[in-house]
Amino acid sequence: MHTDLVAALDIGGTKIAGALVDGHGRILVRAQRATPAQEDGDTVMGAVADVIAELTLSPLWCRARAVGIGSAGPVDASAGTVSPVNVPGWRGYPLVERVRAATGGLPVELIGDGVAITAAEHWQGAARGHDNALCMVVSTGVGGGLVLGGRLHPGPTGNAGHIGHISVDLDGDPCPCGSRGCVERIASGPNIARRALEGGWRPGPDGDTSAAAVAAAARQGDPVAVASFERAAQALAAGIAATATLVEIDIAVIGGGVGKAGEALFTPLRRALSDYATLSFVRGLTVAPALMGTDAGLVGAAAAALGGRNSVPAAGVAT
Ligand SMILES: [Zn+2]
Repeated sequence: MHTDLVAALDIGGTKIAGALVDGHGRILVRAQRATPAQEDGDTVMGAVADVIAELTLSPLWCRARAVGIGSAGPVDASAGTVSPVNVPGWRGYPLVERVRAATGGLPVELIGDGVAITAAEHWQGAARGHDNALCMVVSTGVGGGLVLGGRLHPGPTGNAGHIGHISVDLDGDPCPCGSRGCVERIASGPNIARRALEGGWRPGPDGDTSAAAVAAAARQGDPVAVASFERAAQALAAGIAATATLVEIDIAVIGGGVGKAGEALFTPLRRALSDYATLSFVRGLTVAPALMGTDAGLVGAAAAALGGRNSVPAAGVAT
């Protein structure tokens, strides 16, 4: 019997996606449920079990040799538990043990969602071929992950690369994490929109006050919208430059909704990087938009299952 596939689970506060994925990162079978995020822990697990049960109905299920999970964090990969901020019923929840039981004892690899997206971008996306990379998701929050020395670097608990909660403003606003002046507190989509509104920017007739609407206004030259993106870019640049200075990454990949803002973000980001990434060994640092779409979490979870938590499949596999 061939066991050339893996099962992948992408667990977030809104949806639980599952797939059977081959060694080239192709998604062969899908299943999805809404996350009953406000319910008790076992009800949330019931939705995960439903996704798994739907996958097991596929004739391809017998070829699955392992399960990869990318979960909203924090996660504790060493303990096999998750405590997603937006799923209060899961605190120290033994997700790995429950998924193993639900899949008849398959080996399970757990990583955080930022690390999963990094695995996907390194395997098939914008960080492909880069041995030292930071990949970020800038949307409602700011997450990330690291590739160091050609390998995914999840860290002992699966949370390494958590760039959203590096402080870049020592006396800045308090962050929900307990620190202050965090990258996320300045650069996340809701904070870009909040700052624009506080500065006097007003949405169009559709009433859209999202960061995407601020980006559209910035492209039209609205000075308050431009300034809000410049401030976000500055925070991202300081965090990226600090990361590069510490561990010598040569590319930072930016995805998520704010990453889709295009030059409204990337032009001020490149300018700010030249202000903060100044030493000789980081001056060549580039920034690039993410290439993996909404399946990045699933593909990254599959990469973890195929390669183990500390590596990704050989780049050549993806050809
Ligand atoms: Zn924080």
